[in-house]
Amino acid sequence: MPTLAVPELSLVALVGVTGSGKSTFAARHFAPTQVLSSDAFRALVSDDEDDQGATRDAFDALYYVAAKRLRAGRLTVIDATHLRREDRAQVVAAAREQDVLPVAIVFDLPPEVPRSRNAGHRNLPDHVLRRQQEALRRSVRGLRREGFRKVHVLSGVDDVAAARIEWEK
Ligand code: ATP
Ligand code: MG
Repeated sequence: MPTLAVPELSLVALVGVTGSGKSTFAARHFAPTQVLSSDAFRALVSDDEDDQGATRDAFDALYYVAAKRLRAGRLTVIDATHLRREDRAQVVAAAREQDVLPVAIVFDLPPEVPRSRNAGHRNLPDHVLRRQQEALRRSVRGLRREGFRKVHVLSGVDDVAAARIEWEK
């Protein structure tokens, strides 16, 4: 059973393609207020969680709240794909700024799993999913070097289902 050690005060980035179960996992393992989701912040700033044009403002607002939470000593999870290196660099920078540990939880699933969930979820075109999968594959190995202090890779749906979080003081 995968046990994910997570420091009580950390900034956790979920990393995975669309439909890999990040939001489902977050709802299961964390309190709703601990999870800052890019969709929710897009909705807050634009009334539309799918409005990609609102992404910049959404993340500005998200990181503003994240900094406040971390300064108050509160564990924070960012629910976004984090497939681009620059997006992950922002996580690491925000954690360092507030002197907390950046942690990555990676959803590394066989491509057919998120692809089959995509229908009825976001309905993204197949080439977009393929590009995301390639980005994920390129991302996984370098996460420690990017500055994440803990990197937990969930390999496959069984790992995701069985995962439990062990809080570290
Ligand atoms: P996105 O990046 O698009 O926000 P996500 O990684 O947050 O995607 P979820 O929204 O958690 O993915 O899951 C996508 C879909 O797959 C949802 O309809 C969800 O109910 C379903 N799903 C998630 N986890 C599982 C699971 N373990 N078994 C079956 N269905 C699942
Ligand atoms: Mg989601």
